[in-house]
Amino acid sequence: MNMSSEKVNIRDIILKSKYIVALTGAGISAESGIPIFREKNGLWTKYKPEEIASYEAFKRHPDIVWQWYIMRMKKIKKAKPNKAHHILSKWETRGILKSIITQNVDGLHQGAGSKNVIELHGNIWRVKCPECNSRKFLDKIPRYIPRCKDCGSILRPDVVWFGEQLDPEILATAYNEAKKADIMIIIGTSGIVYPATYIPIISKNEGAKLIEINPNDTALSNYADIIIREKASISLSKLDKLIGI
Ligand code: NAD
Ligand code: ZN
Repeated sequence: MNMSSEKVNIRDIILKSKYIVALTGAGISAESGIPIFREKNGLWTKYKPEEIASYEAFKRHPDIVWQWYIMRMKKIKKAKPNKAHHILSKWETRGILKSIITQNVDGLHQGAGSKNVIELHGNIWRVKCPECNSRKFLDKIPRYIPRCKDCGSILRPDVVWFGEQLDPEILATAYNEAKKADIMIIIGTSGIVYPATYIPIISKNEGAKLIEINPNDTALSNYADIIIREKASISLSKLDKLIGI
């Protein structure tokens, strides 16, 4: 859909809405220099996902898995929130946006000042003990494989791996936000990771309008009421100007 022909419409829809929720994926952080997964130069082209991001892989080769996470942490540490993260944060402050449901583990939404962030897939800066379940935030990037202070087990990144369930409480919170939304803005997600991809469908079934922001076609495009086929920072800057808050 051509944004200029829809300008008035989008502005009206946004300004009349009472509860906007954003669903974000790796694409929103791409412009911060963090590679997305499913692309020619994406993160998974060098490694097969199940060889790294699974509990089996971690059990078999904790050293390789940790090496990969340390490499990602270094990349993420250098990254700064971009315009798209900042605009969402501003919209929250102004009361336009109620929450962000994110599949990202990079913490860049919080870095931009967003408060109500629901992290579906965990956070790369947190570790968890697979034996005693204790969790903590890391204060620096580990140089060696980190171990649990209580039981000595090798700690794992507190992120959701392939074949793992999402935290049921977090998922329930996300579903609840999805139900309350009258607009859901879907930014930078391919929509092929379950159950995250159900979230906009829930909103749609409850009568919400879906706005997709993505330079490429996705599994959710068919459900979208408005599609902006541009990068997150450009699209959100345009929307921000348009609604003028
Ligand atoms: P994905 O890699 O499957 O898809 C990324 C999407 O972003 C694609 O549809 C692509 O067209 C779009 N995109 C690329 N550049 C964009 C831009 N500048 N603006 C807007 N959109 C852009 O990502 P996903 O759907 O989030 O699923 C991947 C999984 O991997 C998630 O579970 C996520 O947890 C994880 N992941 C996280 C990070 C991160 O934390 N930054 C990075 C990579 C992957
Ligand atoms: Zn432990």
